[in-house]
Amino acid sequence: MSDLANLRKNLIARLEELGHRVDVFESGLREPLDADFAEQATQMEGAEVASALEHSAILEAQHIKAAIARIDAGSYGECTKCGSDINPARLEVLPYATECVKCAA
Ligand SMILES: [Zn+2]
Repeated sequence: MSDLANLRKNLIARLEELGHRVDVFESGLREPLDADFAEQATQMEGAEVASALEHSAILEAQHIKAAIARIDAGSYGECTKCGSDINPARLEVLPYATECVKCAA
């Protein structure tokens, strides 16, 4: 299996994990609030945190989908700004990076 095919597999696995996390958050948010006011305040805070986490999970999922599309299009690893190759070490840390270190700075 080539590196890219392997990466694609990992990205899809990550995407599924994120999708599952979003499902969990949404079912948590749908729980009715407790009648007790103090309880309610704590639950609201929890819901806000969950909502922020859900938002970042959705954003990450979008980045991952875009990276998979670039793999399929054969443009993965190219800087979208200057067209040069993105450093493989950078892609290892940030598999869905779209810009080289120079352009991202
Ligand atoms: Zn660049």
